[in-house]
Amino acid sequence: MQKDFELTILGTGSATPTRLRHPSAQYLRMEGDYFLIDCGEGTQNQILKFGLRFNKIKYILISHLHGDHYFGLPGMITTMSLQGRLEPLTIIGPSELWPIIELILKSGNTTLTYEINFIPTDAEQPALVLEKAQWEIRSFPLRHRIKCTGFLIKEKGPLRKISKQACEKLGVPFSFYDSLKAGANYIAPDGKTYENALLTLPAAPNRTYAYVSDSIYDEGILPHISGADWLYHEATFKHDLLDRALITFHTTSLQAGEIAARAQVKNLILGHFSARYADVGPLLEEAKTAFPNSRIAIEGELIQL
Ligand SMILES: [Zn+2]
Ligand SMILES: [Zn+2]
Repeated sequence: MQKDFELTILGTGSATPTRLRHPSAQYLRMEGDYFLIDCGEGTQNQILKFGLRFNKIKYILISHLHGDHYFGLPGMITTMSLQGRLEPLTIIGPSELWPIIELILKSGNTTLTYEINFIPTDAEQPALVLEKAQWEIRSFPLRHRIKCTGFLIKEKGPLRKISKQACEKLGVPFSFYDSLKAGANYIAPDGKTYENALLTLPAAPNRTYAYVSDSIYDEGILPHISGADWLYHEATFKHDLLDRALITFHTTSLQAGEIAARAQVKNLILGHFSARYADVGPLLEEAKTAFPNSRIAIEGELIQL
């Protein structure tokens, strides 16, 4: 069975919220770790509404400092403290974010019950932001009106899977399972060696999720998202408003489909819709003309990546 890698969409709107849509935020569960990707205003309410947990979140990734991507953050970190959080929280985002957080906490004479570990992103070049045994997060520059990065979240490995039947038959101790997953052969107490392939199954493929928040159409991102299993790409406007997209450094739904096709990703999720669209069906249809395997981000929807 594959490990958890699932995404809950919390916000699908752009600069101004509408009755139907909240600003950008996504809740990601991967290999037992929980991430929040962007944190627009109202993210806390969305987390409550969809039955998710604040204190599970260990990492918060912020793409850029337009309010629709981080105005929910001060409330979020304060709530975590009010709930008595002890576990450190890692925030990844533009360097200018940290003094903002410090000022807000200082102005309210707020002392958090936990520590924040802040990791600044680099909007000039791609970088490995954080690496753990099971996954890694990379950032890459996006072309927007201000400094902005996308994120590539990637499972690591490949670790082989234990063949329970074969291991139990031979009485392989549980303590040796991690070595088997890493590819070691097993030497039984009688000295006999058993090849790894007899006791394990091939590794599940490593999955990748690329998050492209606000950006003008930019083929420069293709090397960073190429072949991703899932791509979230902003699609603020329909292509008839290309002029508007160019002025505001956003992408049209057709262009998002073109990026997905050029990058040869497997799935495309569209979001960050302008408040002018009550019905985003036409944006989906347009993206599909370039990339058929497109879907609309729907708030509250759980996507198995
Ligand atoms: Zn935005
Ligand atoms: Zn923006």
